[in-house]
Amino acid sequence: VETLARAIERRAAEAPTHAAIITDAGVLSYAALHQFGVRAAAAMRRDGVGMGDTVAVLAPNSAVYLALMVGAARVGAVLAAIPVSADAQAQAAMIADSGAELLFTDKAGVVAGEVRTVELGKIDQWLERDAVVVPHAPVPPDAPMTIIYSSGTTGMPKGIVQPFVYRARMLESGAARGYGPDAVTLLATPLYSNTTLSSLVQTIGAGGTIVLMAKFDAAEWLRLAERHRVTHAMLVPVMCSRLLAHPDFDRTDLSAFRVKYCTSAPFAPALKAEILDRWPGGLVEFYGMTEGGASFVLFAHEHRDKLHTVGTIAAGGELRLLDDADRDVPSGEQGEVVTRSPSMMLGYHNRPDETAACRWIAPDGSVWQRTGDIGRLDEDGFLSIVDRKKDMIISGGFNIYPSDIEAVLAGHGEVIEASVVGVPSATWGETPVAFVVAPGADAAGLKVWLNERLGKMQRVADLRLIDALPRGPIGKVLKRHLRDTYVAQAI
Ligand code: ATP
Ligand code: MG
Repeated sequence: VETLARAIERRAAEAPTHAAIITDAGVLSYAALHQFGVRAAAAMRRDGVGMGDTVAVLAPNSAVYLALMVGAARVGAVLAAIPVSADAQAQAAMIADSGAELLFTDKAGVVAGEVRTVELGKIDQWLERDAVVVPHAPVPPDAPMTIIYSSGTTGMPKGIVQPFVYRARMLESGAARGYGPDAVTLLATPLYSNTTLSSLVQTIGAGGTIVLMAKFDAAEWLRLAERHRVTHAMLVPVMCSRLLAHPDFDRTDLSAFRVKYCTSAPFAPALKAEILDRWPGGLVEFYGMTEGGASFVLFAHEHRDKLHTVGTIAAGGELRLLDDADRDVPSGEQGEVVTRSPSMMLGYHNRPDETAACRWIAPDGSVWQRTGDIGRLDEDGFLSIVDRKKDMIISGGFNIYPSDIEAVLAGHGEVIEASVVGVPSATWGETPVAFVVAPGADAAGLKVWLNERLGKMQRVADLRLIDALPRGPIGKVLKRHLRDTYVAQAI
């Protein structure tokens, strides 16, 4: 099966001096990255890590992180990507749960428990110097390759086990996604997220160059984009709005841009339109989940009339929309998005019950992935995401979608961002409450303005002004934090 190690090795033979990855530590050519991976593989083998064993990495983005991915792929080991953003206790639990034999981290003395630790600052001492080239492990396509944690938007992050075939499909799809050897892809989201990995792997599969930031910063991002004549970037909506709002945006030369990809969270149609107007190159939105299944793609620059959707289903995928009794909804109606494709997770690591709960077995015996998202398909096959099922508010037996209320708030001139959650109510079961970032605005006045524009059942019981919305590692709004804080304060 095609792996990152094989793709880089091939490229190192074809174009050894071509830049593979640029970080603030410098440039690594494909030959250098290949060599780095070979040394990591040899050291893993020396330390007894072989096919099916697990290594864990807890570190911010760096070229070393990528080399460890390559080394692990070469020996056929599973790489567990531990989120830097999680707290130490959760990280310790994930490391233990992953069953890793070896932990790579830049945090000395962390929570490693029994696990042997290699400090990334001392990686040169650990790497094999004159490495014997370890042969590629003969991994079957359905062998586990990585454990990636879900974003933890709705609860604790879940370890998602992705098989080698999942990555192989990503490697092979680079060209179809518009990447080529001359692609220069700027990545600023963490390597432990599937969003980042998909773009990284597609760029490398096509022989392009990665510009990798350790951490997103709008000014620095713009500087790097201009300096390296960046052609592609993987973004999340909040990064797009911060870049557009930055005073340097209009002064920055972004003319080399071919495509911006954006994914991971609801992406406001107005923001998509602004990007199309102010930012050179195309705009492609993805909708999907780390668990796999089908993804949806919107070529926004070709479908200005469909900006309220996430586009059409990507090749190889199948979609069903199910009602609460798991029956297909009539055409045009909304239901839970349930999908299927050759890129499906093997399951949640050590969580058989949750794995079973997110699978749906169709009457014909086929296995589908539940997304927990509510969607609707239009007559042209474009999917709109209504909201997450878990975020839907049931008030007096009436279904309220926070996204509808958030959309109204977004139309107020003073509102920068807003999030609506359901909180317990003695009268209604649940009732909506709005959290709004609007410096200088008056909460009481804004609440009146909002409620005048909402249906009777949708009206918010409370509106709080806050400085910023709480966000997860790739910029998703953490509604559960808002809900928990509000409930705790109300007691
Ligand atoms: P957790 O499962 O731990 O709560 P998460 O669902 O946010 O976290 P991911 O796998 O990173 O973890 O995200 C997948 C989810 O992100 C989808 O189910 C969907 O709700 C949302 N999402 C992804 N892309 C889009 C998009 N283009 N538009 C709207 N929502 C999106
Ligand atoms: Mg999820």
